[in-house]
Amino acid sequence: MNQGITRVLYIDLSSLTFEIKDRTDLPPYMGGSGLGCQLLAEEGRLNQDPLAPEQPIIFSRGALSPCFPAATQVAAVFRSPLTGHLAESFAGGSLAAAMFLARLNALVIKGRADRPVRITVGPRIVHIKKADPLYGTGTEECLREIYDLESSPGFRSVMVIGQAGEKTVRFADLVLDRYWRFGGFGAGALFGSKNLKSLMVYGDRSLSIPDVNAAAYREVFENIHNRLVHSELMPLLHKLGTVVNLEKMQSMMALPSRNGREPQFKALPSFTAQSLAEKHLVRQLACTGCPVGCVHVGYYRRMYGSESFEFEESHLPYDYATVYALGSQLGLETPGDFWALWEKVSGYGLDPLAAGAALGWLTEAYMQGLVTEQDTGTAIGFGYMEGYLHALDGLVGGETPLYRDLARGATFAALRWGGVDYVTEINYRATTGLHTGYDSLLSLAMGFKQPEFVHPLPPRSNQEPERVVNNLIAREAANCLLDSMGVCRLVNQVYDYKTVSRALKSLGYKLSPRQLKISSYELYNRKQGINRAFGFDPAKTNIPYRFFNIPTSQGLLEQNRFAEMLDLLAKQTRAADKEGIIPG
Ligand code: SF4
Repeated sequence: MNQGITRVLYIDLSSLTFEIKDRTDLPPYMGGSGLGCQLLAEEGRLNQDPLAPEQPIIFSRGALSPCFPAATQVAAVFRSPLTGHLAESFAGGSLAAAMFLARLNALVIKGRADRPVRITVGPRIVHIKKADPLYGTGTEECLREIYDLESSPGFRSVMVIGQAGEKTVRFADLVLDRYWRFGGFGAGALFGSKNLKSLMVYGDRSLSIPDVNAAAYREVFENIHNRLVHSELMPLLHKLGTVVNLEKMQSMMALPSRNGREPQFKALPSFTAQSLAEKHLVRQLACTGCPVGCVHVGYYRRMYGSESFEFEESHLPYDYATVYALGSQLGLETPGDFWALWEKVSGYGLDPLAAGAALGWLTEAYMQGLVTEQDTGTAIGFGYMEGYLHALDGLVGGETPLYRDLARGATFAALRWGGVDYVTEINYRATTGLHTGYDSLLSLAMGFKQPEFVHPLPPRSNQEPERVVNNLIAREAANCLLDSMGVCRLVNQVYDYKTVSRALKSLGYKLSPRQLKISSYELYNRKQGINRAFGFDPAKTNIPYRFFNIPTSQGLLEQNRFAEMLDLLAKQTRAADKEGIIPG
């Protein structure tokens, strides 16, 4: 490992060329989010459409990943075709380890191939191959084909798009290593716009920790590992996964259902973590290098036709967000209906949260007569799974003007067809369904990453606006640092500034906890600056009225109070832009 050099692979699909640069000016940006944002600032086009061929998509490995437990994340950074603003999407799986073993810190892909292609990146090769036969395949089939086609001489990681990405549906995801995804911002649409069906990275190098640091490395590693495996989170996440929050949120009246029209998910008894584990769980998986293993994979058996007794089975990952978005949000009544819908969403490579928000809005628009069966090709209703399956086919196939609009997200469709008050998105982003209060709504409005798991759950508090805003900024700044380290957000409490400093030191980087704290605010400010350059202005945020009718763990939110907090946040962020660093 050479701590003075950041190795970046640049691939241009228009000219089918590539270049590796060993850059000595990038180490201050560390890795992950920080490095990705810097590369986007260099390569992104402010005045061009997010899907213009020149726009890059950047994959940036965290500075600590995969060298420490739960430091597993890679950031995908790009201009989002869904929101138009800065997109940062994080995923684990095996990608960080494969990039590390291929000796890469980051990959920048730009341009557009004139026919479908797939890319293979190894430590000594970059192959750009024809992918015409793969076009039209769903994510599962495409992954199977790639695994057959590409024998890997080392440790590999594969990401693909489904038909939704090919058709540039604005909320198409990239599916990674089968059970992970770069989700929520349309990374799959970016691949589709570049005619890029898949990317495989493999590595076969063994890179040793220099002898001089080996003892310190082992000590920090063991310290982090022990704190993780003995934390109270470990049994919760490993045994039951993030779905364990479903019952807790329901008990706090904070698990809304039917597009936020109802305060509770009536079918929850069939969807509890215990019930899903007993009836559907087939295995728990971990990102490479994590001892927790929180990824729960469920088993779904589907019969061909109605009475054939011929079955096909699918294995699908499940977590709090997917059960919320495709179960509670749409009022489904049985896990069987949930699996059928999730299988379709996953196969097309759609984002489950955005798909749930789109179908939720569609249901209410249908109920209110804003759209008709002529527009949808089917009856639509809460709990009516077959209607939703049909709607997803129509959306990905672009069958009607309504579906072509809906392929740009629920907010876009609502602005054209009506019903903006009951869209469950803010700034084109859907909620993760953890309605913890003002902080989760402000995170959505500000483009911060939303919580995916909350433990312990927040009390019903009534804090002063300044305090809420200051806490939120401090938390987001700390997250900016950990996102640059590649630390998984589900367990990032283990990585305080002191621990990060010691971990970096054992790899040869000398940064004190105080310096890291300052860096975290620099990273935060820089990210806000890039977002503003893409036209993001929190002051112009419209919050659909539905959000003030959806219960949260702090009760119903007040519009005026929320507006006051958002205003404060926007002012603080603008002030930081002028004054530079705002360490807390
Ligand atoms: S906690 Fe879960 S998502 Fe996070 S690194 Fe571990 S296995 Fe991956």
